[in-house]
Amino acid sequence: MVRALNFSAGPAALPLPVLERAQQEFVNFKGTGMSIMEMSHRGKHYDAVHSEAKQRLKQLMNVPDTHEILFLQGGASMQFSMVPLNFLKEGSTAGYILTGSWSEKALQEAERIGKTFIVASSKESKYRSIPSKSDWKDDSGLSYLHITSNNTIYGTQWHEFPETNAPLVADMSSDILSRPLDISKFALLYAGAQKNLGPSGVTVVIAHKEWTASHSNSLSKFLDYNTHLKTDSLYNTPPTFSIYMLGLVLEWAEEQGGTDGLATLNKEKAELLYDCIENSGGFYRGHAEKGSESHMNVTFNLPDQELEKDFLGKAANEGFIGLNGHRSIGGCRASIYNAVPLEAVEKLADFMKVYRKNHP
Ligand code: PMP
Repeated sequence: MVRALNFSAGPAALPLPVLERAQQEFVNFKGTGMSIMEMSHRGKHYDAVHSEAKQRLKQLMNVPDTHEILFLQGGASMQFSMVPLNFLKEGSTAGYILTGSWSEKALQEAERIGKTFIVASSKESKYRSIPSKSDWKDDSGLSYLHITSNNTIYGTQWHEFPETNAPLVADMSSDILSRPLDISKFALLYAGAQKNLGPSGVTVVIAHKEWTASHSNSLSKFLDYNTHLKTDSLYNTPPTFSIYMLGLVLEWAEEQGGTDGLATLNKEKAELLYDCIENSGGFYRGHAEKGSESHMNVTFNLPDQELEKDFLGKAANEGFIGLNGHRSIGGCRASIYNAVPLEAVEKLADFMKVYRKNHP
């Protein structure tokens, strides 16, 4: 079997050993004569899957006891609403730093709920960079400050997290588990699983317990984080298969040396592509400014749209999948999440070099 050279932005490539293990266990999970999908979420087999996934994530991400891991549904998009529904109270203001379309979407949801304030934005420079702290407006007195740690569409990433007095909330959908992180800096972070953690269907939330418990959402029990905190994410039926897959991905991540091992590999993969862009004599133009380049989504343009179309067509003929930029901005984008193998990235860098040589 030939595996696709999959550079999709998400849902994205999963590790082959994970898929093979799921295949082995698919119709008969641990000798039960059933798939994990077919059994009660309150039974002992699923219970073990649920708690093991949580335990593995806690260890891999070094989650302190002050924080709790939740498995929710609704994707990162539902978190755009849940965060302000829970933490943006009347009379208070939530701060947002805009670094791309997903931060804009998060802000739009908060605007429907309460008062917001844009602390910094790189919109005017086409989201090519992460705003530096010296360009921030006053961030004091905010109920929370929301950032997007990696900008999937524009290909930029926070490489250091900002010091702020506001409780820091982060959308980490496209770079969670890609590098070591000091969780204690965050009041809450969230990520849809479908890039670095597994298939779509489960959204991981890591929340500071005390901070979360001191807020609530009186409108809806289900949209109140405390409901899920109190029930170990088993208030209703969780996405059992997605959480099972998440557990397998986490086991695989441990074998890669955890977040340290993954970060080293991700840096190596990203450098291969950024070096190729930099050494192309201006043929490939990276979208992100130096210092803000994402290690997860490498975005670039060719001299004109005609060539971009030709490049994408030829790449597709060679088996490269998902290299087109997001429909909102065009261009090219290689998403190189944890599970994209180094060999696939090497092949892409070679293809880019040959293509460049053929277009003097
Ligand atoms: N935030 C970021 C950074 C994303 O990349 C995405 C999806 N590409 C989303 C939010 C939306 O995620 P979901 O589809 O899980 O709602």
